[in-house]
Amino acid sequence: MNDIGLVTRKSSDRSVVAVANVRFGEGLVIIAGPCSVESEEQTMEIARAVKAAGANMIRGGVFKPRTSPYAFQGLGLKGLKILKKAREETGLPVVSEVLDTRDVSWMSEYVDVLQIGARNMQNFSLLKEVGKSRKPVLLKRGMYSTLSEWLNCAEYILKEGNSQVVLCERGIRTFETYTRNTLDLSAVPALKELTHLPVIVDPAHGTGKISLILPMSLAAVAAGADGIIVEVHNDPAAALSDGDQSLTPAQFSALHRKLSSLKAFLEGLN
Ligand code: PEP
Ligand code: MN
Repeated sequence: MNDIGLVTRKSSDRSVVAVANVRFGEGLVIIAGPCSVESEEQTMEIARAVKAAGANMIRGGVFKPRTSPYAFQGLGLKGLKILKKAREETGLPVVSEVLDTRDVSWMSEYVDVLQIGARNMQNFSLLKEVGKSRKPVLLKRGMYSTLSEWLNCAEYILKEGNSQVVLCERGIRTFETYTRNTLDLSAVPALKELTHLPVIVDPAHGTGKISLILPMSLAAVAAGADGIIVEVHNDPAAALSDGDQSLTPAQFSALHRKLSSLKAFLEGLN
């Protein structure tokens, strides 16, 4: 892989991306929250629950890249104000997806991390814009993207002067239809060889199935992931997006407990 000198790992270097007191690249960072911010009550209830269960960060979409233009598109600014409130009350930093170059600057006042979603991984204008901002970026893998294409997208961001990039494996499209995507966990150790950037895994979009989230999260951590991002909803059946892959707070709490035990066990191996 030529011409990606900024993201390429040289010798044993590993970057830490710091977001308030959360450090991607050290220990295990667990991010949880609703797919979409739907209302203040819903988001605050989920934020309190994931905080109590031990989450390090809150996620929540306010600009939703939906397949259908008639599906819920997100609350926009109203949603960002709700996320800000959730951060103030819980003390947890917040990550939310930015869809449009015009939103990068003002949205940065409300969130701690800007997420570039799978559908926008190769939106080069958006990559350049977040590269010019000073906000950490969560760059999800495009659903048809090779590791080389993905790393080139990270290179776009670093080239503009922003080195605070975290990569997120979220599954790729294959011929398999049982799962929503095929979660490529081999990407984790492969990226650890190729780049110094932290790597996290999204087993929710990666599988689309509640029952697969726990085993794939454990496998991701065993494979060396620096963190996990999952969707949690207080009433998954009523969620406006991705209810089928959203954990209840109780399920998230059990997941968090098991991931922490596994991480402690793995550290004991070293
Ligand atoms: C999301 O995080 O809600 C999302 C839309 O993810 P992705 O871009 O990976 O599909
Ligand atoms: Mn989602």
